[in-house]
Amino acid sequence: MDIAVIGSNMVDLISYIDKMPKEGETLEAPEFEIGCGGKGANQAVAAAKMGSKVMMVTKVGDDLFADNTIRNLENYGIDTEFTNKVLDTSSGVAPIFVDQDSKNRILIIKGANQHLLPEDVDKATEKLKQCSLIVLQLEIPLETIYQAIDFGNEYGIPVILNPAPASKNLDFSHIYKCDFFIPNETELEILTGMPVDTVEQIKAAAGTLIDNGVKDVIVTMGSRGVMWVNKGEVHIVDSHKVAAIDTTGAGDAFIGCFAHYFVQNGDVLLAINMATAFAALSVTKRGTQTSYPSVDEVEQFEG
Ligand code: ATP
Repeated sequence: MDIAVIGSNMVDLISYIDKMPKEGETLEAPEFEIGCGGKGANQAVAAAKMGSKVMMVTKVGDDLFADNTIRNLENYGIDTEFTNKVLDTSSGVAPIFVDQDSKNRILIIKGANQHLLPEDVDKATEKLKQCSLIVLQLEIPLETIYQAIDFGNEYGIPVILNPAPASKNLDFSHIYKCDFFIPNETELEILTGMPVDTVEQIKAAAGTLIDNGVKDVIVTMGSRGVMWVNKGEVHIVDSHKVAAIDTTGAGDAFIGCFAHYFVQNGDVLLAINMATAFAALSVTKRGTQTSYPSVDEVEQFEG
């Protein structure tokens, strides 16, 4: 195993609408799509598409979405030995409404993801010990995330924490134990309580985390690129100029691809460059996992 993603999976239920119904109103909508998503699953798929051996510790419900989610992960070659069903619980689902201007309204029902508990990390210990990297996000209970960080620290396995969706409840003593902390600008602002309007401000906010023990902070800044801060060094990698159609899941694309290249050769800057290319290609297509490019496409694009 190269990478363990301990995190969420969701089923995106996407309605393309002309307008939102008012209270009591029933409207017809032109189109509907089901997609596999969830930050954990997206990141696992991105890494697996690049060729990493990925295992996913996650929970699905006992509904009609569960087998489809497991099959989808397995189709990408992801190990699902520790992807378990929870009885009498729905899978994680995200009803999404996209209007004619491509603006979206999203509801998240975490469902089975809330049942991914610290003991699920313990149960996977033997397999997790074989991994070279652990990847975490915040769509599962915080206690489980803390357990996974402690596990990584105990066995000397580097940990990436992507603090998304943003939460003010995240315990700083655990953030400081992570090797890579990868927020977007908003998440960094919410967590540190510091402004992030300028490059200097982002540098300062990331610097407070480095001063307290995080080895590397990588801030994704949408079309403005990525800032990598560690002790004594700051790098900015610009985004590629592409015709963006749908940026959903770009952050997950970046993290999954970064994880792959970091595990393969340990070169952080190279991993950021490849992940920047991967994420840029992903925004040129509609959808999340289905918009992720192949290895050949990324290597060709990056030259
Ligand atoms: P999401 O929540 O939609 O997954 P995010 O806010 O976590 O996204 P972003 O910072 O928006 O993540 O994007 C991640 C990376 O994707 C960026 O650092 C950049 O490399 C790439 N990216 C995002 N938007 C664009 C764009 N319009 N053009 C080129 N690259 C982009």
